[in-house]
Amino acid sequence: METSHGLVETPMFMPVGTQGSVKAIEQRELVELGAQIILGNTYHLYLRPGVDVIESAGGLHGFIGWNKPILTDSGGYQIFSLTDLREIEEDGVTFRSHVDGSTHVFTPESVITIQRQLGSDVMMVLDECAPHPCDIEYAQRSNGLTIRWAERCRNAFEQDGSRYGHAQGLFGIVQGSIYREIRELSAQALVKMDFDGYAIGGLAVGEPVEQMYEITEFCEALLPREKPRYLMGVGTPQNLLESIERGMDMFDCVLPTRNGRNANLFTRTGSLNLRNAVHKTDLSPVDPECTCYTCKNFSRAYLRHLFQVKEILALQLATIHNLSFYLWLMREAHKAIHQRRFAEWKHSILSGLRTGQVGIQ
Ligand SMILES: [Zn+2]
Repeated sequence: METSHGLVETPMFMPVGTQGSVKAIEQRELVELGAQIILGNTYHLYLRPGVDVIESAGGLHGFIGWNKPILTDSGGYQIFSLTDLREIEEDGVTFRSHVDGSTHVFTPESVITIQRQLGSDVMMVLDECAPHPCDIEYAQRSNGLTIRWAERCRNAFEQDGSRYGHAQGLFGIVQGSIYREIRELSAQALVKMDFDGYAIGGLAVGEPVEQMYEITEFCEALLPREKPRYLMGVGTPQNLLESIERGMDMFDCVLPTRNGRNANLFTRTGSLNLRNAVHKTDLSPVDPECTCYTCKNFSRAYLRHLFQVKEILALQLATIHNLSFYLWLMREAHKAIHQRRFAEWKHSILSGLRTGQVGIQ
């Protein structure tokens, strides 16, 4: 995927930099790990520090000192998941800040303006992520609104140009809950609007994983092959591989960073919980095959100790390793696809992931 801050190879994993920072890791470390693109959350950045501050710094890239690509969401998902007293109307959504209770309104037009001010390489349309479960009537109504909002975002995108002289792309988001007929309507309407890429939203919200794969596969067939497809908010290493096999190119998830901060480490032989006593005297690295800074220099026993005594370094080292693992997985997937041996490679990775999972989380 070409952006004005460089080429991003797919499949890609985007570390989540919610508030302009990927938690517990420095930007230079992200570069070192091979992160190609990070995600910023419009809702959080709009509330704090505010878009005027970011605009005065020349946009999000300048403000956070990151000159690689950035994707920003529209803020919709956080409004629906974090705020109470929200009101969805045709014009937009009114919500109360989770920080100080102040009232704000996001419209399709305003989220485009905000993302123009942020200057992200990939911007997302405002959508309603329908809750799970939801009945078909709700999903239909919600999807109608999401399509009208997408069209208004598309128009605002045409009218309101880039602030910083670099090109920005806009992605549509396919919604429709678990209903194929609504997903189809959604995809068809969005494809007509000719977005730069397409996301599949409203999955990984509590539905069974098989249903998530089924809907992903169904939507994929409706989206243009030459444009990036982004499966939002997914997921575990297993989820990523299954979704890549189903044609997905882009992923974001808090799992590697959040789990890392909870002493849950991903390895090639499954995940392990460093709080478990079994690691107290274990001088082996977290993942013997991993070449990250954490695995090259430190033992499970040392990391466990850092977690036990609540040292900040524990969070940093765990985050480095978990992101390193996810980014490695994407690079290997890229290679396997090019060598036309993805299915075989996926099988070997998945059987590896299952081997060490006995008795650990
Ligand atoms: Zn490592």
